[in-house]
Amino acid sequence: MATLAAGASAKVPEVRDIARIERIGAHSHIRGLGLDDNLEARSVSQGMVGQQTARRAAGIVLGMIKEGKIAGRAILLAGPPGTGKTAIAMAISKSLGKDTPFTSMAGSEIYSLEMSKTEALTQAIRKSIGVRIREETEIIEGEVVELQVERPASGVGAKVGKLTLKTTEMETIYDLGTKMIDSLTKEKVGAGDVITIDKATGKISRIGRSFTRARDYDATGPQTRFVQCPEGELQKRKEVVHTVSIHEIDVINSRTHGFLALFSGDTGEIKPEVREQINGKIAEWREEGKAEITPGVLFIDEVHMLDIECFSFLNRALEDEMSPVVIMATNRGITKIRGTNYNSPHGIPIDLLDRMIIIPTSSYTDKQTMEILKIRCEEEDCEVSEDALMILTSIAMATSLRYAIQLITLSSLVSRRRKSNEVAIEDVKKVYSLFLDEGRSEQILNEYQDQYLY
Ligand code: ATP
Repeated sequence: MATLAAGASAKVPEVRDIARIERIGAHSHIRGLGLDDNLEARSVSQGMVGQQTARRAAGIVLGMIKEGKIAGRAILLAGPPGTGKTAIAMAISKSLGKDTPFTSMAGSEIYSLEMSKTEALTQAIRKSIGVRIREETEIIEGEVVELQVERPASGVGAKVGKLTLKTTEMETIYDLGTKMIDSLTKEKVGAGDVITIDKATGKISRIGRSFTRARDYDATGPQTRFVQCPEGELQKRKEVVHTVSIHEIDVINSRTHGFLALFSGDTGEIKPEVREQINGKIAEWREEGKAEITPGVLFIDEVHMLDIECFSFLNRALEDEMSPVVIMATNRGITKIRGTNYNSPHGIPIDLLDRMIIIPTSSYTDKQTMEILKIRCEEEDCEVSEDALMILTSIAMATSLRYAIQLITLSSLVSRRRKSNEVAIEDVKKVYSLFLDEGRSEQILNEYQDQYLY
């Protein structure tokens, strides 16, 4: 196997960001779950409207994901079409820190000629597990580094401080440590404290009141930690922390593909031997304290599109120690499980359903629908008159929220053609007559069925 090359990961987050932006176009107005400090859902907040019970439940799930408490659990968002299941999943994604991977896919994406269904699921799962890897790299002259003095959990009267230093030349860690202490003292953060710097290692090992017990401190930063070096030697190396997904490590180390495949997305199948070796290596890194696992979230929309083999695979995968949290969404009621002749709630086998937490979503009132449409108009920079917004709301209630959202952009184009900056009723009426909703389309098909091919 090629040497494990986690370092080539520096560019990887960009790939992830692009994938995210493409997928959430319809949800770009969602900035979070819109909860208050007590995890209660505000009626309109962070782009989210109504659906308060589901948002509150999602907030609890979010808290557990953040605390790393529910790796390997499955959550199902179930409700009628257009009731914000995907929007809630996206709100969770927005609320997670950048170090917690969030992968989004539709159930139908697993059907491809390039890879088997289980390989597609394995890749999705491994994209959703983050590995925080510590690496040593050279300090570049003039680089700005951040150091932090943190209070140990048991410390009393200890101080927390943070400062940014610019390395003007290669400095010994002792010099950097001294600079930090100077600065802390100047800011009166540690006034009256006794500070001891171990000259041999440069480690700030004790800070405390002269008459109290000494406390241990480390000079650490969230991204940078200085590697100890003997006194007098130049401090040229530092420790850096990257977060990558296990899938990224798989691809980088896969002989047949190489890391460029991360950019094209053309990763093909990855050999089980490669994965086994990587799992082994990660386990070693974890033992040596060089890496930590951060289980993220895999979101599978339209989960009823998976078939019985996928469900059985997922059921087993969830038991793995490194499994991410899997959030699924469906708008199906009792329906056939793909690949079988059996019906089941949501088209999901009972044994998998049994291990899921189910969050239901329900239909919106007129007022909530209007509020969502208003937010979408703002998001699309579209001025709309009050009565046009009311007509759009009636259309949404009679057809679907999604259809009405589509009409916003179209009406805006029509209003601009008549040189107006504001969408009026006539614009909405025009696009409503030009573009059919699902109901009217079906009606026409029923009327003129004999003119179509069977
Ligand atoms: P389906 O079952 O058809 O996949 P869904 O339940 O996933 O539907 P969404 O795609 O989340 O529905 O919602 C349709 C549109 O309405 C999206 O643009 C979404 O962002 C928006 N939307 C839905 N619910 C809300 C909400 N509560 N607040 C703000 N926007 C919402």
